[in-house]
Amino acid sequence: MRPFRYATPSTLEQATNLLRAEPSAKPLGGGTNLVDLMREGIESPTHLVDVRRLPLAEIRQMPEGGVRIGAGAKNSDTANHPLIRDRYPLLSKALLSGASPQLRNMATAGGNLMQRTSCYYFMDPAFPACNKRQPGSGCAAIGGENRIHAIFGASEACIAVHPSDMCVALLALDAVIQVEGPHGRRSIPMHDFHRLPGNAPQLDTNLARDELILAIDLPPSLFGHRVEYLKIRDRQSFAFALVSCAAALEISDGVVRVARLAFGGVAHKPWRAFAAEERLLGEKPEIAAFARAAQLAVQGATPLTGNAWKVQLMRKTAERALISAGGTA
Ligand code: SF4
Repeated sequence: MRPFRYATPSTLEQATNLLRAEPSAKPLGGGTNLVDLMREGIESPTHLVDVRRLPLAEIRQMPEGGVRIGAGAKNSDTANHPLIRDRYPLLSKALLSGASPQLRNMATAGGNLMQRTSCYYFMDPAFPACNKRQPGSGCAAIGGENRIHAIFGASEACIAVHPSDMCVALLALDAVIQVEGPHGRRSIPMHDFHRLPGNAPQLDTNLARDELILAIDLPPSLFGHRVEYLKIRDRQSFAFALVSCAAALEISDGVVRVARLAFGGVAHKPWRAFAAEERLLGEKPEIAAFARAAQLAVQGATPLTGNAWKVQLMRKTAERALISAGGTA
């Protein structure tokens, strides 16, 4: 690990000033991803700005009926908070399917948003070709072992997938990210927060380098307990998703009024199946309707040499998640 300077600002202003002043400074939350990457030499910030003393861990109800989750809230506290368990069980399920209890006790909401890919070539500097780690160096995964990689939205520069479970649920729930930077505060809809790789895969998000995540806002809950988060992985715990699916339905008078379908493990960012959601509107919550929507969700997939099986896995995962959310099982 390269030497770095460590600061513990006690105000938001101090934290953002430090980030602004040092081009390679990084905020430190739980450190469960960043510190690992520093140990491996994948990240080498000159300064760590420890934001754990800032008052950013609160989870509270908002006046319009939504909930605000502070960026410093621990994953385990968020998953088990009564407001989240009762109103956003999809988010609870997604959080509890990620990592291990020890890691969830350390990891924060803001850190989870900034989690980097689990691509094994990115994680191992012994492989020199990785455009995400070293722009312009190539991509070892394209001609190599790519069974865990993207089937949507990849580029010739990078085929990695986003690793987070929490972010898939946040996308399905239309969360909005609140950030603070040199030009003041702004809100970023979850769908616009993460990026596709294009020709700049070193950038995972649209957050500016000197902006700090303050909170995640959830709009008033529409779905109650008609939700499901299904995560398919190589082993039952402490593994990233091969494919995950967040499904949420609002059903009244016997038909689907609102549907949400989002996926993890299939693209460089959490992936939303808008056409499939649209297809469900007005349908009776029956298995045949869910199967048609799941089929639509995989339309346009472009699998790689090693992961054509992911297309079928994604379709079946979506179908099962919708059946479970709709109470049809
Ligand atoms: Fe690097 Fe992306 Fe290629 Fe993985 S897929 S080796 S992260 S450029």
